[in-house]
Amino acid sequence: MNIPPSNRPASPHTFHVVIIGGGIAGLSTAWYLQQAARDQSIDLQYTIIEASDRWGGKVQTEYVDSDGDSSFVLEAGPDAFLTRKAGVVNLVRELGLEERVISVNQVRHQTYVVNKGQLVPLPEGMQLLVPTRLRPFLRSPLFSRWGKLRVGLDWFIPKRTSKTDESLAHFVRRRLGTEVLDKLAEPLLSGVYNAEPENQSMQATFSQFPAMEQKYGSLLRGAKSTQANLSPERKSAFISFQQGACELVAALVSHLSGCLRLSTPVETVMKSGRNYRVRLATGEELIADAVVLATPAKVAALLTKQGFSQTATQLETIPYSSIGAVYLGFRKSDVQRVLDGFGVVIPRSEKRKIDGITWVSSKWTSRAPSDSVLLRVFFGGPNTRDMMRLSDDNLLDVIRSEVRSLLGIHVLPIFHRVFRWPEGYPQYEVGHLDRIAAIEAALPHGLYVTGSSYRGIGVPDCITQGQNTASQVIADLLERKSEASPLSV
Ligand SMILES: Cc1cc2nc3c(=O)[nH]c(=O)nc-3n(C[C@H](O)[C@H](O)[C@H](O)COP(=O)(O)OP(=O)(O)OC[C@H]3O[C@@H](n4cnc5c(N)ncnc54)[C@H](O)[C@@H]3O)c2cc1C
Repeated sequence: MNIPPSNRPASPHTFHVVIIGGGIAGLSTAWYLQQAARDQSIDLQYTIIEASDRWGGKVQTEYVDSDGDSSFVLEAGPDAFLTRKAGVVNLVRELGLEERVISVNQVRHQTYVVNKGQLVPLPEGMQLLVPTRLRPFLRSPLFSRWGKLRVGLDWFIPKRTSKTDESLAHFVRRRLGTEVLDKLAEPLLSGVYNAEPENQSMQATFSQFPAMEQKYGSLLRGAKSTQANLSPERKSAFISFQQGACELVAALVSHLSGCLRLSTPVETVMKSGRNYRVRLATGEELIADAVVLATPAKVAALLTKQGFSQTATQLETIPYSSIGAVYLGFRKSDVQRVLDGFGVVIPRSEKRKIDGITWVSSKWTSRAPSDSVLLRVFFGGPNTRDMMRLSDDNLLDVIRSEVRSLLGIHVLPIFHRVFRWPEGYPQYEVGHLDRIAAIEAALPHGLYVTGSSYRGIGVPDCITQGQNTASQVIADLLERKSEASPLSV
């Protein structure tokens, strides 16, 4: 047993859990494990092993100094957390971070869609795909007359009888027609998942729509009904933190009392009697009662290939797409266009070289100095894969030309910064939830997988998964404890 002194179990009855991966899923697992062990009076130590030299995985914030009244705040990964999902809201409360929370701009929340090269606002009252207000929808130049009529047919189309999963493209074509798929579903809903709509699982990504179809028989009826029930005092749908998403990671890490190791890649996980042997790149081996794989599934597959080949083969079946973003900073006086919204989404049919632009300084009031504008231009997703291969210089040329053509910004940016995430986005294909259930069912006792490859890509989902995994680990350890000493229960 080769555990660093700070992590050596105090007694033979101390359980040791190794968490591999210090992204938000791994850190959340540790946080909830720590609390559950305390609540259940379990003698437990844990070690988090992270390959890189920083915590947070894809959650990463950088700052660019300016001459203005504040710095630019750049998110390499996530920039907004959905409050509808409880994970992040609960964690904020538990860590005492309420005062640090900021909300997206509630006034300028318009989203634009590129349509024949022009920016067209999404009609007011859209519930993502579904119009809840007739007049703005009918007036919108985004859809043809037939496209609008086709949406109206949703009212009369019978609900699907099959309960099996289907693709986003299939669902939207069936209920609302190809124009909604092209102009809204593909750029907005597949955009969030960086996915191909023909492959994207409806059940794993937007299950609320099939549920609405089943409950109300029509999306239009469902949206109308749920709209009526919405409380007038609506909270912000998205939040972040004053100094960026990294605040969440920093707070989480500061609350963890286990053994935390950076710059330590794990190489393999093997069985050792009832326990596990976790081999590190340093040559050390840790012995653990339980191991949580909180890395992307493709990494988990590599780590388990030698010891658990069936698990590795299953994990390898989860595909990934790539994504990148270029931040551009401008002086406000150089930008003629009023950036009165969150930004622009771009349908595949427009055949552009970028996937979308977030108007960061409009979406958030505190991400750029008051005399500046900050844009985040996305590239390299399923519609623009080739862009990932460009050098930074060539990439910047293409990005600037797209920004010139779409937003009319001709000047050079005052700074730029490129972030790339090759194979950074797990793909939830049709049947994803069955695939994950099969992986989980086949895992050996004491080995767990958690994080964005499995049951939700967003940060709030990863937090919830960490919590659920921690509960499962504790339940299994309690069972093991009771088996070991049957008289004590
Ligand atoms: C560009 C981008 C924008 C996004 N925007 C949003 C958003 O606005 N809102 C939102 O909610 N979500 C967003 N997401 C998704 C979200 O950020 C991720 O799904 C989530 O952060 C993933 O967390 P994780 O812990 O599962 O994985 P990761 O963050 O990938 O963490 C896994 C960790 O495992 C470590 N690791 C890998 N191999 C090893 C090894 N061999 N040994 C030890 N450690 C290892 C890695 O270094 C990493 O730190 C975005 C993602 C990207 C890429």
